[in-house]
Order: sequence, then structure tokens, then C-alpha cells
Amino acid sequence: MLSFDPDKVSLPVGHYIDGQHIQAQGTAFAVKRPSDGKVFATLYEADAALVDRAVQVAHRRVKESGWASCPPRERGRVLRRWADLIEQDLLLAQLESLGSTRPISDVVQHEIPFTAEAIRFYAECADKYSGDVFPTRDSSLGMLVSEPYGVIAAITPWNFPLSMASWKCGPALAAGNAVVLKPSELTPFSTVRMAELAIQAGLPAGVLNIIQGGGAVTGSSLVKHPLVRKVSFTGSTLTGARIMSDAAQHGMKPVTLELGGKSPQLVFDDAGDLDVLAQRIMRGFTANGGQACVAGTRLIVQQGIAAALTDRLVALCREVQPGVTWHEQSRYAPLIDERQGCKVASVVAAAKAQGAEVLVGGERFGNTDAGWFWQPTLLSHVNSDNPAVQQEIFGPVLTVQTFSEEEEGLALAAHDTYGLCAGVHTLSLPRALRAMRAIEAGTVWINRYGRSGDFIIPTGGFLGSGIGKDLGRQAFQACQRQKSVLIDF
Ligand code: NAD
Repeated sequence: MLSFDPDKVSLPVGHYIDGQHIQAQGTAFAVKRPSDGKVFATLYEADAALVDRAVQVAHRRVKESGWASCPPRERGRVLRRWADLIEQDLLLAQLESLGSTRPISDVVQHEIPFTAEAIRFYAECADKYSGDVFPTRDSSLGMLVSEPYGVIAAITPWNFPLSMASWKCGPALAAGNAVVLKPSELTPFSTVRMAELAIQAGLPAGVLNIIQGGGAVTGSSLVKHPLVRKVSFTGSTLTGARIMSDAAQHGMKPVTLELGGKSPQLVFDDAGDLDVLAQRIMRGFTANGGQACVAGTRLIVQQGIAAALTDRLVALCREVQPGVTWHEQSRYAPLIDERQGCKVASVVAAAKAQGAEVLVGGERFGNTDAGWFWQPTLLSHVNSDNPAVQQEIFGPVLTVQTFSEEEEGLALAAHDTYGLCAGVHTLSLPRALRAMRAIEAGTVWINRYGRSGDFIIPTGGFLGSGIGKDLGRQAFQACQRQKSVLIDF
């Protein structure tokens, strides 16, 4: 039985620095449950002094503890133990479900295994990469030596708190760095529990620290701290730009930026079984209530199957039922909070004002206490200037555009701002490969939509969707810097 009482979950309140819970008194902020909008905790934001303390601790401990200098296989062992503890910890699953938008069954079946496996993937990377030896003169030896950066700042969003933390911490820790992680102020708890489990697994105290607070004070002090050597961020494009600018002005730090998206689902007449296709498109834009950077929110469908496919999608949308995240039967995620709900409502209203027609949905579910559950929504009659096509809505809203020729479909799939992902659906291999080449996006999925459990495949955006990669070997290598060495005999 996975259902639980949301009022009886024990919360790890405060910051977690040097293996200790710290309740420093800065500016207070309330934390609400997305499912019913109830305030369930008050936290105090880390000010610049507390951020400094966390970074100083990380800087000291990563050296003193030997984490940076130990045999890499030893780091791998600790990370594997950590992954095991994550999988066994029911409190972690409950904290994630209670404080975020993820239904408990989804957390247990997907989020937790996905988080643990990402950490295991990086445990394996720890001792698998070597440097290089160059063909120099006989009397000298030229080498490239990889070394950890020291302290890496990780800043994560609210939509997938645990897996985002694992994508940041896994490679950074495996490569011998310390991490100071700031989760979103909307979802502060599960990452603290995750860090407690890391210490239980044998990670030296102070090598992974969690600080709580918003972006303006806590996040920005972290990015600007002189001992932070690299910043790994996931969040919106606007914040990513600010962080890149701060990182450039405060030490020219490298940044990895995983940002927003507005991804097309390009469907050709020959895409195969329409029922299978409808399910795939549906999952692509409604998973986590549409609050996924990779959400496929622009359906671009060839005219021959457009009506049949949208009819099926409308029927699937009508089946969706909301339910609080702590009930085992719940499948459909609420929006994170009222602010996000108002944002979705305002873009839908603006889209309608510019001619969009609502095929289904278009409003909040009415029977759900104070939670913001938004009905899966299909908008047709939109041109490429429509706000619902232009903006990342971060809610379960799909725009529908049709085309007749391949070139026209490819032109509609292009986006001025974002280039995170794209889905291409056709049984013609040449057409699929032409589309893959033409689309400007960091990931193209052909006849599927969404990531697999293959952590070897990196993820990252083009254009305003980001810089650098999470996951894959690339994320591990990006957590090390390369030093060139030349030795004369
Ligand atoms: P956000 O940009 O508002 O906040 C993300 C994080 O940045 C939060 O922890 C926030 O406190 C912090 N922050 C805000 N201002 C900051 C500043 N000036 N300096 C340092 N930190 C600051 O994003 P969000 O609303 O939490 O998340 C939704 C966004 O995240 C969407 O745009 C979504 O597409 C994106 N996202 C991208 C990916 C990806 O892999 N590309 C994955 C998940 C989410």
C-alpha cells in the first residue's frame, strides 16, 4: 500500500551543511503542497553568509576527507551504496510525492529507480576515463591530466527534484568534486533526505551540502561565490541567462545550462497505428501535468490523419482524472502552485484571444480542493505567432497545426527560441532521417517520445534551451578540467 497520510510525514527542515541540519534564521518562506495548496512548512532562506559557510565547508572537506584524491573506485563504491539506500527509503519517496507534483506510484515506479540508476551510472564512470599522452619530441612527454574542479554549485528546478539532483550530483561527486546544491524553494525537502542518505552511504560529511532559498539571494550568492568553480543549472531560459552572466562576471566559471523547451511532435501520414500514436502524443504533453522541459507541446500533423488523430487525443484527454499525489491510485499531476496555474490560464486566454479554438479542456478541474489541476487542453487554429505556440507554458496544453508537404511540416517544427527536443513519427526511414537532420534540437526521438533508462545518452538543448549536456559520459567529463603537462627528460 503506497498511499500515505500527508500530515504524518517527518520533514527534514532546514539546510544541510557538513552533515548537520541547520535552522538559520534568514527571510522566512512558506512551502505549500501542490495537491491541496496547504502550507506544510516554513523555511528560512540561506543568506550570503550561510551560503559562504556551505561553500567554505565544501571546499575544505573535499580536500581533508580525501574525496578528491582517493582511488576513484572507492568513490564508485560509496555512490553505489547511496543508490541502494535511495531505492530502499520510503520516506524519500513520500517526501518527493508530498512536496512535488509527482503521484506516489509514479515516484516509486519511476522517479526513485531513475534517480538511483543515474547515480549508479556515474559510479561506474568514476574510474573509466583517462587523460591523454601526446606525440611530442623523444626527450619530452606531453600529457593531458583530468582533475576535479573543487566545489560545483548545482541549482535545480521543482519539476523533478530527485532525478535532477542525481543528474547534477552523480557526475560531480564521481569525478571527485564537492557539491553545494540549491533545490527549488518550492520543493526543498526530498534533496535533504537524499543528502542524509549519501552520508549514511559513506560520503564524507560536507562533500554534499544542501542550502534552501530562492534565486535572488541564495542562488545568486552561490553562483557568485569565489570558491565555486563551476555551475550546473537546470531551470528556465531567463534564469539561465542571468546565471551565465553572473558566472562570467564572477570568476569566468564554466556553466552547464539545461533550460526550457517548446518541442514539436512532427507526425506524418504514414506514422502507423493511430491509437498507439495518440497514446504517445498524450504522454508527451501530459506527463507530470505538462511540467517537463521535454514536453512535446506542439503537434504538427499531416492533413491526411489530422482529424482522426485529434479525435483520439480529445477522447484520451476526457478520461483524465485528477487526484492528490499521496493516493496510490492517482496518476495525473497537479500544477506546482497557484502562480503556475495563473500562468497557464493567462497563456490559454491569450491564445484564444488570438483565434485559438479549444478542442478539449481549457480550464482548471473544478472538483479538487485548492490544488491546481489543469485539464489536458488541445488548441487548434493557431498560427506560429500564437502565444501558445511561442511560449513555454509548462502545463498540459498541446497546440495543433497541420501541413500538407514535408517541407511545410519541417518549417512549422522550427522554433525561434527553443531547441530542446523533437519527436518525429513516420515509418519512412529516409523521411525520418531527413527530419532528424533538419530539426535544430539537442534531442530527436523517432517513433517514440521521451527518454529511455539509457543514461549513456546525453541530454541538452540548442538555442535558448541551453548549453552543455546532462547525463552520458559527457556530463561526467564536464565535471573535470583538463590540465596540459609537458615534461622534459
Ligand atoms: P526557474 O528558472 O524559475 O528556477 C530554477 C532554479 O533556479 C530554482 O532553484 C530557483 O530558485 C533558481 N534561481 C532563480 N533565479 C536565480 C538566480 N538569479 N541565480 C541562481 N539561481 C536562481 O525554473 P523553475 O520554474 O524552477 O523550473 C521550470 C523551468 O525549468 C522550465 O523552464 C523548464 O523547462 C526548465 N527545466 C529544464 C530541464 C532541462 O533538462 N532542460 C529540466 C527541467 C526543467
